[in-house]
Amino acid sequence: MPPTSSSKEIRFKGIPASPGIAIGPAFIFRKHVPSVYVRSLSEEEFENEIERLQKARERSQYELRKIVQFADQRLGPDQAKIFEAQLLLLEDQYLFNTIIERIRKEKKNAEHLVRDEIDKYHRIMIASKDQYTRERADDLQDVCNRILRNLEEQKLSSKLEGSFVIISHHLAAADILLFSRNDILGYVTELGGATSHMALLARALKLPLVVGVHQISTVAQTGDTIIVDGTEGVVILNPEEETRAQYERARIELKKFEAKLAELRNQPAETLDGHRVQLSANIELLEEIEFVKQQGADGIGLYRTEILLIGREVFPSEDEQYEHYVKIAEEMYPQQVIIRTFDIGGDKFMMHSVKEKNPFLGWRGIRVMLDKPQIFLDQLRAILRASVHKNLAIMFPMITSIKEVRLSKQLLEQAKDDLRRKGIPFDDGIQVGVMIEVPAAAVIADHIAKEVNFLSIGTNDLIQYLLAVDRGNEIVSDLFQEFHPAVVRFLRRIIERGKNESVWVGMCGQMAGDPLATILLVGLGLDEFSVVPTVLPEIKKIIRSIHYTEAQHVAEKVLQMTSEDEIKTYLRTLMKHKFPDIPVH
Ligand code: PEP
Ligand code: MG
Repeated sequence: MPPTSSSKEIRFKGIPASPGIAIGPAFIFRKHVPSVYVRSLSEEEFENEIERLQKARERSQYELRKIVQFADQRLGPDQAKIFEAQLLLLEDQYLFNTIIERIRKEKKNAEHLVRDEIDKYHRIMIASKDQYTRERADDLQDVCNRILRNLEEQKLSSKLEGSFVIISHHLAAADILLFSRNDILGYVTELGGATSHMALLARALKLPLVVGVHQISTVAQTGDTIIVDGTEGVVILNPEEETRAQYERARIELKKFEAKLAELRNQPAETLDGHRVQLSANIELLEEIEFVKQQGADGIGLYRTEILLIGREVFPSEDEQYEHYVKIAEEMYPQQVIIRTFDIGGDKFMMHSVKEKNPFLGWRGIRVMLDKPQIFLDQLRAILRASVHKNLAIMFPMITSIKEVRLSKQLLEQAKDDLRRKGIPFDDGIQVGVMIEVPAAAVIADHIAKEVNFLSIGTNDLIQYLLAVDRGNEIVSDLFQEFHPAVVRFLRRIIERGKNESVWVGMCGQMAGDPLATILLVGLGLDEFSVVPTVLPEIKKIIRSIHYTEAQHVAEKVLQMTSEDEIKTYLRTLMKHKFPDIPVH
């Protein structure tokens, strides 16, 4: 039996999906889920049923076009794209022809067949190993429910009187947007992931969201007071006086802190004694660009192109990729965007059903691309064509040897020749870099640096390979230690070797966005940090509040330490003393 709401304080732990704190009355939103029944039709009813379907489709198109328009005005064209993708499904003639054919052949009602056809796609997406595809399945369900609701000729209402925290079993991106016409304080859902479109929109609207809060919509009641801490992923129902006061204080502090951080937006990531670093963002979706700009990033330090492969059976063509890369280049111009070539395999997406016993040690990243030169060349040409404004750079993942670097560069030259022959312009001086994420590459970083313009440290993989700890295995997650002395020594070594060869050294692994690591990384001489966009202002604040000489001193001290515990305790004490506002773990 789930606990039911009383005046007793109840705490829930969920997944933080959009930061911030909201306190206010709850509104339990129970989405009208159209009930789908199966009805047999007589032949005379066919035409009427088809007309009903057409009307529902047109009405759904009309609604979605309005949503696109509203999203465009409220959040800009990138966010509107989420709904344009939903509109595409409604324009899918094949889908609707199939449903119409089935109405005639199977003599069944439209509701049943719409659900059945869309469910086929839905099942494929839900079964995907890839989290991104699974989360896009929500959007599909939303279009399906929209058509079903319009078949029932039900109107959707999203008007609320007053300010509320919306609680729901599940919300679609469109719900978040439509609710935003009211005074919404935040959102809590039982389902959904931190990278779903719903989460992206909540972040764009700057409203706290916690997802994965089991049973909240059955326990809470409309009118109950609720606290949503979207930074920590905590939800508190019926808070006691003291808890409420504590969160009120935290909310006020957070607002003050955010206002201060916002002032940093146009300030450089520079230490008090004038040492400047590049502070960029990692992105996977074009929709994130607007947010990245708002956060005051110096550029994009890692664009993971694997996202273009999701839900596909064949690699996207050169032209298709070009459209994508040129968009990101133009939207970020004049800032630099580092496009990483496909890093398939490992825990990531794989186009071919090659079963490997040890995928992380298998056919992954550059190894796949070098074995598939035509696919690699398509991608390289697409990036080159998009580089005409000279703000793109290319980065190769999973490099282990000089041979791989040279072969990749040869293919890049071949791609350039192809374009030259066709008279297609590109940036001949495009910067080329390599990810240092395999220990072997770290050991020969000096040799690699001689071949390229920059090195970018991928700590997510580097740590897993260096410490022999699977990055995705919860059982050993406490052994995945960013502050293991071996990791710190390795970082020092890579940075030094790169600098000796006069190339810049950046970091695009998670560690770059860990506030506990910032002073150490500055002190080790890291030139570029590429971080998840949400943490960017905090990292900038730390960099702007320290002296480079002091950070160097911290790095020297850390390099003498013998255990992760010792290093973390030291850095935590330092952070607590200097930045009590910034949470570190
Ligand atoms: C890394 O390994 O640190 C990295 C940034 O790449 P990915 O997480 O995409 O493997
Ligand atoms: Mg990696």
